[in-house]
Amino acid sequence: MDADLAGQVVDIAARVVASGAISANGHGNVSLRVPGAEEMYFTAGPSLRGHSVSAVVRVGLDGALLEGELPPIQGAVVAMHTAMYADHPDVGCVLHTHSPYATAYAVARRPIGCWVEALAMFGLAAGVPVAEYGPRGSHEAVASIRAAITPGVPAVLLANHGVLVFHRTPELAILVGGIVEEAAQAGINAAPLGGPVEIPAELRAAALQRTMAFDNRGTLHG
Ligand SMILES: [Zn+2]
Repeated sequence: MDADLAGQVVDIAARVVASGAISANGHGNVSLRVPGAEEMYFTAGPSLRGHSVSAVVRVGLDGALLEGELPPIQGAVVAMHTAMYADHPDVGCVLHTHSPYATAYAVARRPIGCWVEALAMFGLAAGVPVAEYGPRGSHEAVASIRAAITPGVPAVLLANHGVLVFHRTPELAILVGGIVEEAAQAGINAAPLGGPVEIPAELRAAALQRTMAFDNRGTLHG
């Protein structure tokens, strides 16, 4: 076990908890691809809250446990992480949570529309799709996730379960997890006001372009 990588996974788990995009019990899992190897480091603890380094496991992308103790509850969802790394060579980090507002959409089996600008800015201009229900981590669930994902879209709702986010870096994955939760909360808060209104498709691209233009300029120093 590489102590640095195990420490990184625990640090990501702590940052997910700090982001607030997590259910009260902290249920969820985080994984990190091992650069240059067909492996990932994975949180095998019962909660992301206060996750210990000793509960991190090393797992092959074929699903084989290579090092550590993997309890059945966490073992059952390993495949939904390994599938993301196998399918998307650029993905370096996968997060799964039951963040409450996004999970409400997942339970209602309703996609999150692009009614918050941040979705357009961070690869979710088409909103967050829903993967059909399958028992957590099963072949059916993983097949549904694969079917729901559109290229370049870094998140999917898992029907009757929660959220899955996969991105190049932990920073981007945590950011997207927070944006998905924020958009879901805004959607639910807007419901009594007549419901959220999506940004017109042509303006979603404009939101992204404006972000990129500011990105290219970098931070200004006065
Ligand atoms: Zn779950």
